[in-house]
Amino acid sequence: MTDRVAPDAPLDQARGLHVVTLGTAAGPAIRSECPGIATAIVVDGRFYLVDFGLGVTRAAHTAGLRGENLKACFVTHLHSDHVAEIPAYLLWNWGRPVQGFTEPVQILGPGPADPSSGTVGTAGLVEHVLQAYSYDIDVRMVDEGRPSLYELVQVEEIELPASAAGADGEHTPQMDPFMVYQDEFVRVSAILVEHPPIFPAFAFRFDTAYGSVVVSGDTTESLNTSTLAEGADLLVHEAVNLDFYRARDFAPEFLNHQEISHTTPAGVGRVATRAGAARVVLSHLAGVATDAEWTAGVATEYAGPVSVARPGEVYTVVPAEAPATSPA
Ligand SMILES: [Zn+2]
Repeated sequence: MTDRVAPDAPLDQARGLHVVTLGTAAGPAIRSECPGIATAIVVDGRFYLVDFGLGVTRAAHTAGLRGENLKACFVTHLHSDHVAEIPAYLLWNWGRPVQGFTEPVQILGPGPADPSSGTVGTAGLVEHVLQAYSYDIDVRMVDEGRPSLYELVQVEEIELPASAAGADGEHTPQMDPFMVYQDEFVRVSAILVEHPPIFPAFAFRFDTAYGSVVVSGDTTESLNTSTLAEGADLLVHEAVNLDFYRARDFAPEFLNHQEISHTTPAGVGRVATRAGAARVVLSHLAGVATDAEWTAGVATEYAGPVSVARPGEVYTVVPAEAPATSPA
């Protein structure tokens, strides 16, 4: 069971598992007031970020999330709308003057699709960001006594398991989830999803003492997402409204990308039903539709509760299998 009500304590003091849909918009395109895609997983006041869409820095602050409680960050893939605000987020959440992080923070994300091509993965991206802002960083380390941002930010490119052999931007084998991160609050596993031509593209699952959450990342309807989300208490899944794009003057290549790389609401419903997920929240909404239109599509294939994420909305997750507490 999951409800939409806010926790009764500020997020940094709230016990349990909460998910904040900080930003809900898809693409490097401003089609609404909504910030770009970013999701926070909050466990007993500590939090994890999935993706850095445009606006995440302010959205996280507004939600009451401060860098000092950040444990780790996860990048689903390297499309700009998922990583554009890495620079501002790091620079605005670093050191005591801004209640920022003063302990190492890991950023986990894809490696380069093809190292021989010279394009960078998550490590190269972050390294270049820090280099680009090195004048400011160096000054603040001396002038304000901040710790070294270069040392605090630790990037780990996610290594693909043997079961991912043969995967590329066109083909993604069915596979088992694999563990990418663990600490005292969460166990995070990943799986490859299908978002051609982007490779690698990951979905992430957070297992906690209070239940489980899966964030799909960008993907077409994928069996792997269902595998990862098996029995999840909350599935945060992307969705596309193809009719929105078809009714407008977009190039055939752009329309083709929407069709083969994103998931229709009915497709989300099939993924959730195969997974047996207890609840679905749609976020990373590509194209415009009413809430009723988004949820009706999911409901054609899925009988559970479906919500359309609002920016800054807090979902309190309670495990579906939690025994009812009753007096002895
Ligand atoms: Zn994408």
